[in-house]
Amino acid sequence: MDFEKAREEMIRYQIKGRGIRDERVLSAMSSIPREKFVLEGEKDNAYLDCPLPIGMGQTISQPFMVALMTQCLSLKGSETVLEVGTGSGYQAATLSKLAKMVYTIERFSILADRVKKILKELEIKNVKVIVGDGSKGLEEYSPYDGIIVTAGSPEIPESLIEQLNEKGRMVIPVGNSFSQDLLLGIKEKGKLKISNYGGCVFVPLVGKYGW
Ligand code: SAM
Repeated sequence: MDFEKAREEMIRYQIKGRGIRDERVLSAMSSIPREKFVLEGEKDNAYLDCPLPIGMGQTISQPFMVALMTQCLSLKGSETVLEVGTGSGYQAATLSKLAKMVYTIERFSILADRVKKILKELEIKNVKVIVGDGSKGLEEYSPYDGIIVTAGSPEIPESLIEQLNEKGRMVIPVGNSFSQDLLLGIKEKGKLKISNYGGCVFVPLVGKYGW
């Protein structure tokens, strides 16, 4: 399997082809070997246009969804970002190329431990992986310039709004446990100004302020 060719095609057809224009996002995704973040038996499927299983009933998100959510954050390189739902670590690795520091929180330690190993192997040093309930956010390192929640939530947790900087951006799927809307909130005078980026399907955010 020629992973580099598969990656180029993914960028051309799935990402650029569907309207993602942020050159920094395209370049970050061109540099991350997605095959390293999927299970051994799924390597040949790594660049398919769909989510894939990663164990514990969880998934690595579809490449286009990673691109869209990342573009929504409008990162310039100086930001501190919180990701809720580390999963495979692919989204966090993508963010590492676009922000100054990334904190990513995962409820399953088995997934978090796997991600720590992959990031070490790829020499990605600006991502800190934490085990815990990310529906409460991660107060210790707050405030954040960007927050990305990669699991579906019944509502936007107040704790996350509090931990977001003024003018900061939060992207989060909100809906029921089967389907959600992808919402982008920009914090203005302490409140989120919301835009809706359409329907999506994520595994549930399980925790105090999730399901
Ligand atoms: N961003 C991931 C990637 O790049 O592979 C995809 C994440 S997967 C769709 C959602 C993840 O959120 C799962 O790994 C799940 O265990 C995690 N999760 C769900 N609820 C959580 C919570 N309250 N705190 C932290 N992680 C949570």
